[in-house]
Amino acid sequence: MEEPAFTSADLKRGEALFKGPCTFVKGVTGVADLPRDGRAEVAFAGRSNVGKSSLINALTGRTSLARVSVTPGRTRELNFFVLGPSPLLGEDGKPKAGREGDKRDGALYLVDMPGYGYAQASKAQVKGWTRLIANYLKGRRELKRVFLLIDARHGIKPNDEETMKLLDEAAVSYQLVLTKADKPKAAELETIQAKVASDLAKHPAAYPQILVSSARTGTGIKELRAAIAALAI
Ligand code: GDP
Repeated sequence: MEEPAFTSADLKRGEALFKGPCTFVKGVTGVADLPRDGRAEVAFAGRSNVGKSSLINALTGRTSLARVSVTPGRTRELNFFVLGPSPLLGEDGKPKAGREGDKRDGALYLVDMPGYGYAQASKAQVKGWTRLIANYLKGRRELKRVFLLIDARHGIKPNDEETMKLLDEAAVSYQLVLTKADKPKAAELETIQAKVASDLAKHPAAYPQILVSSARTGTGIKELRAAIAALAI
């Protein structure tokens, strides 16, 4: 298995990117509402409860950024955050009317995708989620990479496989990030990592390196910031 190798320059770039403001821009329920300013974006996907909100909050150094957006109804939206000063927002923090922004401001969008595999979700909700995601992934040139979060205790589950298949079919580059790495014992983590790496080999659009993270201890956060910064061009 390949170990991610980040230089100190990569890590610094990541740190610098996440030092600036990170602002909620909007929740998108249909592709017609997607930002069209051409700014690069990276998205976070994963099963509900995988630790996605915690990871986004750890990355951005906020305690409640991701959760703030998860007010009822928001959980099935693509939530867009902008890193860096946003031309979409006025000084009052509210969206400016009639301006889609200028890609020179604000380095990157972070997109919080709705969590899947929620036990209580109805069939109609699952269908809605799948349609939104499939439409979003299709031909979204701005989307540089999807970070697919996998619980380090459980590895790849059938619905993660389905998402990977969707990403392969849409030819969207994606990278797996193991979450909650503080939970399993070191030997268990190693076994899961090896298993995930061998599953990954079957997926053409998957980035071969796996990132290992813990929002609780901060493991892998700097590396994930560096991986994101490398895409913010
Ligand atoms: P989401 O549904 O994917 O947004 O998941 P949350 O971020 O809300 O996290 C789900 C649960 O996992 C919460 O109880 C978190 O406290 C816990 N959790 C999240 N990240 C970590 C982590 O890195 N380590 C541990 N031990 N627990 C975590």
